[in-house]
Amino acid sequence: MKVSSVKPEFKSLSREGKTFNDLGIVLRAHKLGEADRILRVLCRDHGKRSAVAKGIRKTHSRFGARLELFSCVRMMIYRGKSLDIVKQAEIYDSFKEIRENIEIFAAAQVIAEFTDLMTHENEPCPEVFDLVYGCLSLLREHPEKVDLILPFFDFRLLSISGVGISVASCATCGIPLSSSSNVLSPKDGGFLCTNCEKKKKVNGGLIRLSNGAREGFKYISNLELDRVYTEGIPEKAINEIRFVMDRMVEYVTERESRARKVFKNLRTGGR
Ligand SMILES: [Zn+2]
Repeated sequence: MKVSSVKPEFKSLSREGKTFNDLGIVLRAHKLGEADRILRVLCRDHGKRSAVAKGIRKTHSRFGARLELFSCVRMMIYRGKSLDIVKQAEIYDSFKEIRENIEIFAAAQVIAEFTDLMTHENEPCPEVFDLVYGCLSLLREHPEKVDLILPFFDFRLLSISGVGISVASCATCGIPLSSSSNVLSPKDGGFLCTNCEKKKKVNGGLIRLSNGAREGFKYISNLELDRVYTEGIPEKAINEIRFVMDRMVEYVTERESRARKVFKNLRTGGR
C-alpha cells in the first residue's frame, strides 16, 4: 500500500436516525460485564463515540477479531440512550502489524491517548480521523520513522485543535521571528522573539533549542503526511523536538501522559 493513498475513500452513509454507518478507528477498549466490551471509537463523520460491542469476548462472537485496538472498521452503530451499540463491523484496515510490534503498539497508544484527550464526544472530526489513519499507516509502513511520526502527529493535532505551535512569528507579540530565535515557551504556545524572551525569563518555563531542532520545527510545520517517511532530521534534533512536544502536550492536556511514559521506557529500556 502506498502511503500517499492513506486517505480512505469511503463515503459515509450517514442518516439521521437510530442507526448510522461510518468508518471508525478503535482507540480504547474496556471490559464490560462477562462478555461485552466498551469501545472508544473515532468515527470519521460522527466523531468520537463510546459504543458497546455485545458478546465480543465470547468464543464465537459475531465480531470475531474485527474490533481490536487500532482496527479501522466500517461499522453500523445504534444510538443508545447512554451508550451507542455496535450492530455490525467489517474490517476496512485491520492494522494488525501495529499490534504485532510492541514498540509500534506503544507509539500507537500515544496517538490514541492524545486523540482521545483532544476530541469531544459526538463531534465530527474528519480531519483528525484522516490524521490518525495516516499516522497509523505510516507507523505500519515505516516503523523506523517512529521518532518523526509522533512529533509530526502531535504538531498537527495541536494545529487542528487550534492550539498549534507558532514557529514563524513570536507567540507573544506576533513579530516575525529571526532565524536565531531558539527559545520556545510551552505556556505561550510557540517560539519567542528576543524581547519577549527577556521579559519572560524571570518566570522561567522556557526551553532553549539547538539550531538543528529549531530548523526541525520549521520543517515539521511545513511537512505533509505523504512525505514524513522520505525525509530526515538529525537524531539529536529529533530528540529535542520529541522532548518539546511531550512538554507541549502535557501543558495543553494538563496531565502527565501514561502512554508517552510507557513508550519512552520501551525505547530506553527504563533508563
Ligand atoms: Zn515577541
